[in-house]
Amino acid sequence: METINNNFEKNNVDVMKEIYKNGFSEYAKSLTNLPDFFNLEKNGFKEFKKPVCCMDERTPFGIHAAGSGILLPEYDFDIFMSKTNPDCLTSHDGCGAGKIYCLKNNLPLEDSDKIAKEWTMKMAEKYGKKHYHISYSEMVGSKEHHHARVCYFDATGQFNYSDPLPAGFAVNRMDMPASVAIDEVSVAMDIIFTHGPKNLFDSENPFLLVAIGNNEEELSVLKQELSSLNNKYGKLVKIDGLLAA
Ligand SMILES: [Zn+2]
Repeated sequence: METINNNFEKNNVDVMKEIYKNGFSEYAKSLTNLPDFFNLEKNGFKEFKKPVCCMDERTPFGIHAAGSGILLPEYDFDIFMSKTNPDCLTSHDGCGAGKIYCLKNNLPLEDSDKIAKEWTMKMAEKYGKKHYHISYSEMVGSKEHHHARVCYFDATGQFNYSDPLPAGFAVNRMDMPASVAIDEVSVAMDIIFTHGPKNLFDSENPFLLVAIGNNEEELSVLKQELSSLNNKYGKLVKIDGLLAA
């Protein structure tokens, strides 16, 4: 196991033990403040009530899209913007989506943060939104290192984790097509199992893909969508679910 060197990560371990034992939904029943995690007003960033933030677990604010949408095809980004109508587009230090964008477009990897920031500023200007760059000091958790235990796959488009829920990537299934959202989950898994805390996970302590649906029927559709990723990391990854509050 990787050394746990701060309380934030230790809390995650205790919570994960409970979730592994009884499932995410059972665990969530013990939380009286569950509705708070689905309240965008409470989970904005600075003065912004509806900022678009990366799916990165270190930016659990507002509405989510990997790199604020940098990986989305132009058509899907346009739909995303009209559906969500945000007040700000954010970029952030150490953005993995920015790195993937550079790899895809043959751009210098060492400049990925600068390139992702410029892309976000350009889109903010195009759509008449504010831009804010979130620095490491404003990010949540262990700053330079990924610490996600789960990836939330959220059909409400409203969800943000905070204590005591486990840190997790937030993929927005409400405002993007299934295939695009599934690609983002796949990217989150790659981040964890390439340069993330991969040593924390084994078949008994898997990385969880947590579907979040408004009802049981929606939840089962989401889980079905996630099952297309079943073979990618085998037993190191498991699908779980949570009903929105
Ligand atoms: Zn990012």
